Amino acid sequence: MAAIVKLMKTVNRRSLRRDASIFDSKVAPVLNGGDPDGCDHVCGGCGLVLLEHLGINAEFRNVAVTCPRCGECNVPQ
Ligand SMILES: [Zn+2]
Repeated sequence: MAAIVKLMKTVNRRSLRRDASIFDSKVAPVLNGGDPDGCDHVCGGCGLVLLEHLGINAEFRNVAVTCPRCGECNVPQ
């Protein structure tokens, strides 16, 4: 089965809720879910894989990821 790729949405960091968890990393992928059949979430700005092999049903709420390459703040959509 081919990996599913989901494009993340770039947002203004200041528009995030104050209690949002922000993953700031210098390397990508920022997180690896360890599920080879899961999906990859790519940066909405430059297409870099930020969240890799995440289980299909993994839920991310109130979480944002800063892209180490282009610096955009991304949220899952
Ligand atoms: Zn990027």
